[in-house]
Amino acid sequence: MRSSHFQAETNPIHEKNKHEGNSQVNGNKIAATSFDKTMISESDFMGLVQGMYGSNYVAVVIYECPLGTLFNSTTCLCDYPENVDSGTFYPELYMILISTANSYQVIPYPYGFHPSEIVDDPEYPNGPIGGVGGTADCAGVAGGTAHMESCGCIGGTTGISDCNQMCSVSATMAPIQSTVRPGTKINLATTIYTTAAVTVTDKRFDVWYRGEWHETAIIYDEPAITQGNTFTYNNAQVNVLGELRYRLKITYTCNGVPSTVYSNVISTYSQYTSANLMAEFSTEMASCWSQTVASSVANQGKKYEYGFSAYFDCVDKKVSVWGSIVSTSVGCGTLGFGVTLDERPTDQVDPTYGADFTVGNFHTHPPLTYCSSIYSLVPGPSSLDLGYNTSYPRIARTYSNTVTGGHNINLPLTDHLTHSKSVTDY
Ligand SMILES: [Zn+2]
Repeated sequence: MRSSHFQAETNPIHEKNKHEGNSQVNGNKIAATSFDKTMISESDFMGLVQGMYGSNYVAVVIYECPLGTLFNSTTCLCDYPENVDSGTFYPELYMILISTANSYQVIPYPYGFHPSEIVDDPEYPNGPIGGVGGTADCAGVAGGTAHMESCGCIGGTTGISDCNQMCSVSATMAPIQSTVRPGTKINLATTIYTTAAVTVTDKRFDVWYRGEWHETAIIYDEPAITQGNTFTYNNAQVNVLGELRYRLKITYTCNGVPSTVYSNVISTYSQYTSANLMAEFSTEMASCWSQTVASSVANQGKKYEYGFSAYFDCVDKKVSVWGSIVSTSVGCGTLGFGVTLDERPTDQVDPTYGADFTVGNFHTHPPLTYCSSIYSLVPGPSSLDLGYNTSYPRIARTYSNTVTGGHNINLPLTDHLTHSKSVTDY
């Protein structure tokens, strides 16, 4: 039996009870739910197993993962539910079916009764359930000397004489900063532990973005570093907005049998905040306002707005003004006008390379200094400004109080932030 990577968290269950056989056979399939709790002996149980899975299975070992854990069929370990996210779903209880061909299969425990209700074979109370005439060992060998230990079936024909020869692989990724901004480079560092029987054949980081794990989806600026038992990629690029998770996938062989294990998962949020926008584009914002004033003075009877859109440039890996500062103007009597700012969607972003996407914008509202006193303008964002359904900060610079045509052009100003976003909004 090549059950070479069962770990000490598992506990075999072999307990006794009385039974009344009550099986129903439909073809060679047995409906597990048709059995009540008044059964069942080992031989009845083997009848069930062979009916469902085939007569070549001659022995069964039932395991129960500790409370709160599930069986991870990828790593063959009991693990916390958040780490059991691939392959078939296995509950706490599962079975190892041992065949006459000296092979085995691990499957979820499918029956409606607890294994403690199975009546042991009195001749072999510590052996696996069933067996060829009750004489097969846990490796499925009739009269064999293999036996179950906390790490699995060892001895006999298994080629394993000691639990220390079992394969054990684990990997722990160091935490990364909880928030980053697009263009950030992060270091992915993992500590790997393997026992001597393990041969690692491949290591790579996966990245999770927008609900999916992607293999080979991270761009690194430097080659991987293997140093002792650590494996690190420095300066992995973050070219998107939103939550990112990382894990290391390790492919290995254990006594020649290929297997895969994953590290813990670490995560971060990539965001570009209104504070970033205000801090990094104050010069451009001041320029927008001075141009608004200058144009209003030079073209009396017209209203002006200036603004710009900031975006993440996926080639240069930095946030810049999209194109240049833009403006629009209308006569003082025209209502509902506004400068048009570039919009790059944030929801069509490749997790590998990213894309150009908007991270914020800014615009001014017009002075009415050279307009008739019949016109006035309230402070703050317009209903048009508030109506956008975009997921990045927008700032409108307006006079702090309501202004009426002919007002002093140098009154106090206020920046109004709309569409303020929390980190989880991306
Ligand atoms: Zn506006």
